[in-house]
Amino acid sequence: MEIIEENPYRFRMPAHGAMRVPGIVFASRKLLPMAQEDRSLEQVANVATLPGIVVASYAMPDVHWGYGFPIGGVAATDIDAGGVVSPGGVGFDISCGVRLLAAGVGRAELGSRLAGLMDTLGHTVPRGMHRGSVWQLTGPGQLERVLTGGAGYAVESGHGVARDLDRCEDGGRVEGADPSLVSRRAFERGLGQVGSLGSGNHFLEVQAVEEVYDDTAASAFGLHRDQVCVMIHCGSRGLGHQVCTDYVRSMEQVMSRYDIQVPDRQLACAPVESPEGGDYLRALAAATNYARANRQLLTATARRAFEAHLGSGLDLVYDVSHNLATIETHEVDGRPRRLCVHRKGATRALPPHHPDLPADLAGTGQPTLIPGTMGTASYVLAGVAGSPAFHSTCHGAGRTRSRHAAARGVSGRALREELESHGIAVRGTSWKGLAEEAPSAYKDITAVIEASEGARLCRKVARLVPLGVVKG
Ligand code: 5GP
Ligand code: MN
Ligand code: MN
Repeated sequence: MEIIEENPYRFRMPAHGAMRVPGIVFASRKLLPMAQEDRSLEQVANVATLPGIVVASYAMPDVHWGYGFPIGGVAATDIDAGGVVSPGGVGFDISCGVRLLAAGVGRAELGSRLAGLMDTLGHTVPRGMHRGSVWQLTGPGQLERVLTGGAGYAVESGHGVARDLDRCEDGGRVEGADPSLVSRRAFERGLGQVGSLGSGNHFLEVQAVEEVYDDTAASAFGLHRDQVCVMIHCGSRGLGHQVCTDYVRSMEQVMSRYDIQVPDRQLACAPVESPEGGDYLRALAAATNYARANRQLLTATARRAFEAHLGSGLDLVYDVSHNLATIETHEVDGRPRRLCVHRKGATRALPPHHPDLPADLAGTGQPTLIPGTMGTASYVLAGVAGSPAFHSTCHGAGRTRSRHAAARGVSGRALREELESHGIAVRGTSWKGLAEEAPSAYKDITAVIEASEGARLCRKVARLVPLGVVKG
């Protein structure tokens, strides 16, 4: 596979074979080999064969191997040129994403109260595979309201304040959701999980702002040095997983009808403007709203703990997904086109003055939230003008070792001891789950952020360090 270095943070894979567009990999010389070893660049090439794909098949600096599409991939298809939508281009955890909350207290004030706060969070944040949820829904009828109302429905029901919705991507609710296109099985899986983290890669972390790189943007986001924050990472639980499973199956069955050939069955897809493509997008919107409500409910739980232990509120900085397909208009070859933009393990990062930004953030660009690991750091970034990949950037550090390999390499107990010795309070669920998420299983978050900024995908606003983590 030929790879040409165009600049220190941008590599080009010329189109070959059935590729319709080139692959563009944003990385550095240090990060690129990891992507080559785990074969995610082959997946970048495979994605470039999809009908209707425009400009390039992109990989972000945290790219790693995923189901069909790489995690850390961005691909846009032209809807009016037969462009397809693919469930594998969104991933199983539909609208998985991150929200950041800023506390009214500083690191010094938290001090010795951290342990008690973490105990309360550890007891009240539902997690693990089947361990209950914050919200006991009355039945499928109420779940339908979650699927159409998203975080807005959670706020209406008393779990948050109106301002929260101003700081959510899409106002916390996407249009076009149709619960009747969500299977009975997905309903069953989703009913008891609204307001729960899920498994190991998901977390609720108490953090502190360690460094501010841009004072103006940080203060617009409501952040300053030494401030305590809460970062929540979770998605659409079993419901989103089932929606993905159901629509991969349905698309596998109809691909030949649309004369679509793909190099990997996991790239199953259908034209956006086909009954199957449209149905998937309406079910996707429903699962997206579920994920938005989920993060809103966990916010309410975190607020109760902060109120009880510190008498402090938590203001929402922003909530953004990193597994989504959205219909957006972008200029391609000099004219505006309607595109279906897949971001899988990639975060939207709107530039300053974008019409979808809340008015008070127009000057700074979108807050873009990037978790690192529970032992290192996480970052707050901002979108920039003229970014090259449909306003997208990385979504995390990105794995270098599979869960399995990570768990073989370290023991959960030893890892917890090590984290605690660095002053990081750990409230886990299982030793194995903890070991699977060892910081050593991930790329160097600082290198990933440097490459993202170097490639002009975003700019740094602040760096956050972990104080305590509730792990799924
Ligand atoms: P994913 O959505 O791909 O499962 O995870 C996104 C990113 O979250 C990962 O690439 C990793 O960098 C980050 N991450 C996973 N676990 C933790 C954690 O406990 N704390 C923090 N801060 N980041 C984490
Ligand atoms: Mn997820
Ligand atoms: Mn995620």
